[in-house]
Amino acid sequence: MSTLIYGQSLWYYKFMDRMDNVERAASKFLAERGWDKLRPSDLAKSISIEAAELLELFQWTNPELDKVKEDAGKITEIKKELADVMIYCLDMSILLGLDTEKIILDKLEKASQKYPPSVVKNIGDKEPGTEDVYHSIKKSYRRDGLS
Ligand SMILES: [Mg+2]
Repeated sequence: MSTLIYGQSLWYYKFMDRMDNVERAASKFLAERGWDKLRPSDLAKSISIEAAELLELFQWTNPELDKVKEDAGKITEIKKELADVMIYCLDMSILLGLDTEKIILDKLEKASQKYPPSVVKNIGDKEPGTEDVYHSIKKSYRRDGLS
């Protein structure tokens, strides 16, 4: 059992310390290059471009998780593109003055409500009808304006 501080585990605080370090490093990187005045649209484009580079690593393939984890070369490439995506996301959050921790935790909370474990757990992605469950949830949330 982990130690709890104000309802949060010690692991959580260690993780958030690391997040602070990453945010500080990204802020310094931006400021040193004069990139701390980039337009949000430039960052949104860069996030999408880097996400496409990550997706390109899987073009014409659809390997299972274990196969990807066994492929050291693929993991090296994934790490590079994943870092690019996350850095641009962090840059956007920093430049807009957002609370990165809060926006992530708020979205996770909403996603937890949207996709309750009792509904989605153990639904294999290959089972017939799986897409119907997810489509149904998404449609009802969009219809009700819940995002
Ligand atoms: Mg890249």
